[in-house]
Amino acid sequence: MDEFELISQYFDRPAEDSRIVLAGGDDCALVNVPQGKELAFSIDTCIPGRHFFPEDQPENIASRAFRTALSDLAAMGASPLCFTLSLSIPECDSAWLGAFSARLHEEAEMFSCPLVGGDTVRGPLCITLQVQGLVPKGKAITRAGAKPGDIVYVSGRLGDAALALRCLQGEVSFSTQKEQDEISRAYYTPQPHIALGERLSGVASAAIDVSDGFIADLGHICRLSKVGAELDVSALPISAIFSDYVSEKESLQMALYGGDDYQLCFTAPESQSLAIAQMSDALNIPLTPVGHLSENEGIRAQSMNKSVAPFIDAVSQEFRRDGYKHFD
Ligand code: ADP
Ligand code: MG
Repeated sequence: MDEFELISQYFDRPAEDSRIVLAGGDDCALVNVPQGKELAFSIDTCIPGRHFFPEDQPENIASRAFRTALSDLAAMGASPLCFTLSLSIPECDSAWLGAFSARLHEEAEMFSCPLVGGDTVRGPLCITLQVQGLVPKGKAITRAGAKPGDIVYVSGRLGDAALALRCLQGEVSFSTQKEQDEISRAYYTPQPHIALGERLSGVASAAIDVSDGFIADLGHICRLSKVGAELDVSALPISAIFSDYVSEKESLQMALYGGDDYQLCFTAPESQSLAIAQMSDALNIPLTPVGHLSENEGIRAQSMNKSVAPFIDAVSQEFRRDGYKHFD
């Protein structure tokens, strides 16, 4: 099978979508950018051994690559429009390509974000997705708008993906299949919080998706917004399942430093508290206040719950550790 047969068999699909003017087969794809909107775009590369396990199922690789890329649009308050795929593969493995591309198209349909083009080369396995989204002009939520006094929120739960990784690495084993499935979903099929991001535009002062760890990512908001944060770590949304498998200190470490959760961390003035509580109900997503911003640089942890107090010092020591970095 040559390159063009491969593209047409696995990746070229008619984009039945009025927003897409031209997709696949030409030198460029063409999309409509309606008046009053801005194009938001972001690119992410996934390689085996770093972003996924070499033995991972192609379906899981596809879901994770797509969803983590979309999460960047969610964090800016953008709505998905389309994506392109640059694929480097060592050989034409039809079982792998069939499973990978089928799942990718399923995800694309679910999130109304069709594949409109790409590039295919022979080489070491490497998957790059560029996602495009639309956001009302001037309404993107950046990392730089947070103000002292704003409340810090986090969506969903923190640490689930870190616990899933422990399990995948054989360090934790769950007693029921149900627990195992639920926790591995956090790693393989994270939820890009698109609807939440869209609603937060105009409400949140800053937002980021938690990919490198909560402290590291909140740290980016703090640096760019020139603020500091005071956290109540006893308020962190941690699944009850943690207490069955790891110590309280490890739970906190996973929630604070574990990456891959793709929850949204955002800040908002106190005047938006009611709107945010209503948003949480409407979307059925927990949105937990976990602290507030101050003028003092840096992130500090306290605990309103005495039982975690003994761990705070140990955990605070690690605040200098700064999430995942590729070139450390
Ligand atoms: P060019 O040489 O003009 O860059 P290519 O030969 O790379 O074009 O690609 C031919 C067509 O196939 C283009 O429309 C491109 O967008 C599409 N394409 C190539 N690889 C992929 C892929 N992995 N997924 C989707 N479309 C692809
Ligand atoms: Mg090309």
